[in-house]
Order: sequence, then structure tokens, then C-alpha cells
Amino acid sequence: MTFSMPGKNSTTNRRICNNGHVYYKSSDCPVCPVCEKERTPGGDFLSILGAPARRALEGAGITTLKLLSSYSEKEILQLHGMGPGSIPRLKDALLKSGLSFRKTDH
Ligand SMILES: [Zn+2]
Repeated sequence: MTFSMPGKNSTTNRRICNNGHVYYKSSDCPVCPVCEKERTPGGDFLSILGAPARRALEGAGITTLKLLSSYSEKEILQLHGMGPGSIPRLKDALLKSGLSFRKTDH
């Protein structure tokens, strides 16, 4: 059984960008809206992480370095999916933006 709806199936095109985002575009513009959004300053730091760590941060709403800097290293490590191996990368990314993890003394 095939569905044929003339005039209705060519208005939107399902696309998958190089980063695996699924999006719909009616024009020939190849720009992925998700990637475009991630191109904001500091917003691409998640790309340096593995998928589990990335999801951990995204799940906690930590999508920018500025937000990340409001957490301590310890708090970040407690996120499900976050491994100790990700911390040096995050520190590095923070440092490059003149930021650091929140300091805790206990
Ligand atoms: Zn994309």
C-alpha cells in the first residue's frame, strides 16, 4: 500500500545533518537549525564531550560555559553519565573562556 498525496508531500523535506540532527526544511537551505543554534559563543563546548557526558550536561540544563562555571567540579561529577575523564576537557574549555568551576572549600 502506497500513499500518494499530490501537492502535499513536497512541501517539507526530512533531513539529517552531519551531526545527526533531524530537521525539516522546505527550502534548499542546507543549514541545520540545531547546529546553527549551537554556534552561539560558548555553546559548542558540549561537542568536545562524549555522548553520555554531553547528555548529562544537557539534561541538567547546562548548555553554556557560563552556566557550567556556576557549578563546582564535584557537582558536575555527580551528574549521571559524567565521567572523571570529561573534567579536564571541561576545565580546559572553561579556561579558554576565562572561566572556572565554582570553588568549594568543603
Ligand atoms: Zn545539526
